[in-house]
Amino acid sequence: MDNKPVKIGDCVAVERNKTMWEGNIIQINSKSLTLKLKSGYNVGITLDKNTKIKKINAEKIGKHKPVEFKLKFDKTKPLVSILSAGGTIASSIDYSTGAISASYSASQLVSSVPELVNFANIKTKKVLEEMSENMIPKHWKQLANSVFKELKESNGVVVTHGTDTLSYTSSMLSFMLKNLNKPVVITFAQKSSDRGSSDASMNLICSAITATKNIAGVVAVGHGTMSDDYCLINPGTKVRKMHSSQRDSFRPINCSPIGKVWVDGKIKFLGKHKKKEDLKEDCYLDDKIEEKVAIVKFYPGFNPELLDVYIDKGYKGIIIEGTGLGHIAECLFPKIKRAIKEDITVCMTTQTIYGKVNPYVYSNLRILSDLGVIYLEDMLTETAYTKLMWVLGHTQNKEEVREMMLKNMCGEFNLKIQPNQFLY
Ligand code: GLU
Repeated sequence: MDNKPVKIGDCVAVERNKTMWEGNIIQINSKSLTLKLKSGYNVGITLDKNTKIKKINAEKIGKHKPVEFKLKFDKTKPLVSILSAGGTIASSIDYSTGAISASYSASQLVSSVPELVNFANIKTKKVLEEMSENMIPKHWKQLANSVFKELKESNGVVVTHGTDTLSYTSSMLSFMLKNLNKPVVITFAQKSSDRGSSDASMNLICSAITATKNIAGVVAVGHGTMSDDYCLINPGTKVRKMHSSQRDSFRPINCSPIGKVWVDGKIKFLGKHKKKEDLKEDCYLDDKIEEKVAIVKFYPGFNPELLDVYIDKGYKGIIIEGTGLGHIAECLFPKIKRAIKEDITVCMTTQTIYGKVNPYVYSNLRILSDLGVIYLEDMLTETAYTKLMWVLGHTQNKEEVREMMLKNMCGEFNLKIQPNQFLY
């Protein structure tokens, strides 16, 4: 061990008290260093007279580069298209900094999960390379268009996506792909695919299996537990990321999952779900949306003048995420009145996430519904947001907007919520 000066980014072998580690330095000071190991995990090592450090060839621990491989078509199996949109699932670690960035194409991703070919012929395409927080409505249109094209020849489509805003995309795709008569599966990973601990391959395999089944609609598929037991199939308009980092973070909200799927191909549906034969008309793409829609979260101390900003900026729709049954402070009522007078659609969802809003329990809520605020039952805020964009892209007629917002178009309402669906 040479103990020459080392710096962040160097590939090193470190020995201390008969233990050896190899990795890239991602932090170093006079007392300790942190190594990013090949497995993707970090280890902190004390620097003292017993610590020996040796620089090693940078090539030895480089960026994980999956090889692309040619796939043979198997006539006996269905065709599944995998489209990549970005996110952690399509990311790799830059070992010099420990940071991860979206960089893999769908075909590179697939080449690192060869089990996929046991279930389907796989076609891949990179549509976007975005971390999902950077996605804007233009990306939803791009994705919806690409998915629609693939649906013409595939049994189903899988979209690999960042977790953070996945539910916005899954609900928007639900509204844009009308009469969807095949499965469109959105999947993700909480740990990038080049890490030993990644959840990417299991999520991808379970998604591809789901995409070969008779399911009509957009669903989100990913880990159902913290271990590699099975994946949940959740409805695209009623799913939410409920944990910032755990692999089983996606939960169905106000409903049950559609089913469970295992990597060996087993699938269990947990109730009735929409099938191809339930759709009488052909699927078509309708991506007209009104982008001037906002989500406003109410909180104690909310300054009512903030609502003027949206009104003055020409917004056409506002989703208010109220408290409990759909409350906001009474000092906001005049601003709501102004917004509705200026033809802005105002809808109410709840920040409790679970349960429904209900304007008939408290008298002050009746005032809001009498003003014209549309109470959206158990609809998730992000689904309300994408739906209002889609609806306002089709009509500005107040009565039509109300009717469409309250119509169950893609399973966004559950009229019979069961107690056991809480915190599923
Ligand atoms: N924030 C990034 C995204 O949503 C990474 C999170 C993830 O993919 O899990 O794309």
